Amino acid sequence: METVFNVVWYIFVFVFGTIIFSFLNVVIYRAPQKLSFAKGRSFCPHCKHTLHAVDLVPLFSWLFLGGKCRYCKAPISKRYPLVESIGGICALLCCWKYVDPLYPTVTGVLSALLCFYMCSVLTVIAFIDWDTMTIFDSTNVMVLLGGILSAFLFKDITWVERLIGFFSISLPMYLLVLVKEGAFGGGDIKLFAALGVFFGWKLSILLFFFSVVIGGGYAVIGLAKKTKKRDEHFAFGPFICISALIVMMAGQQILDWYLGFLGF
Ligand SMILES: [Zn+2]
Repeated sequence: METVFNVVWYIFVFVFGTIIFSFLNVVIYRAPQKLSFAKGRSFCPHCKHTLHAVDLVPLFSWLFLGGKCRYCKAPISKRYPLVESIGGICALLCCWKYVDPLYPTVTGVLSALLCFYMCSVLTVIAFIDWDTMTIFDSTNVMVLLGGILSAFLFKDITWVERLIGFFSISLPMYLLVLVKEGAFGGGDIKLFAALGVFFGWKLSILLFFFSVVIGGGYAVIGLAKKTKKRDEHFAFGPFICISALIVMMAGQQILDWYLGFLGF
């Protein structure tokens, strides 16, 4: 009985995640073009046919239609089911980390919701930056807001650690940009500052480390495959966001393991 309940609960959580991220697809698509999210119905970007509820079921519509528009058969970007799947997986991870389905606590549910909120904002930032090489101030403010709220839920990171976290990565990056113009984008620096409030300075260092390793790995592979040129700029935001998700889910465990490894 318990198992059945857990399975139903996790399916519900996964579907919830895909529905929310299905809306984020619209935000990612429309925000850089300054289109309204709320106004205007969804339409096929190819034939402009209005999409109906049955065409908009997260993941399933794409799967059942074989990745093609029902009306004009134009291929629909894999981006849509990809973002929806990320939403489902993020929702599952956040709940699995903080909520016992049989004995949920208020703090646990709020923690899971806050982490899911952070996953949502980070996903929007990652894809918009990937597409446009821009991180909006508005989305960085949403990350900062999440960081401030987290101080009331995750009290093992003190306000002082969070304040240091705000500057620990962003300030050195800012100074580096003064020396070498264009080393990092302003949006990246502000994102590190905002995330520093959420993570505190210790996890921020881990965040920076992962961002450089994953982003650097991507650049090296691009150079090797000759799809990128030396000195060619690429969006750093997606790698900061991927790293932030890793640190959010497992950062403390990684840090504990590493410090234990060093004998602290
Ligand atoms: Zn169409």
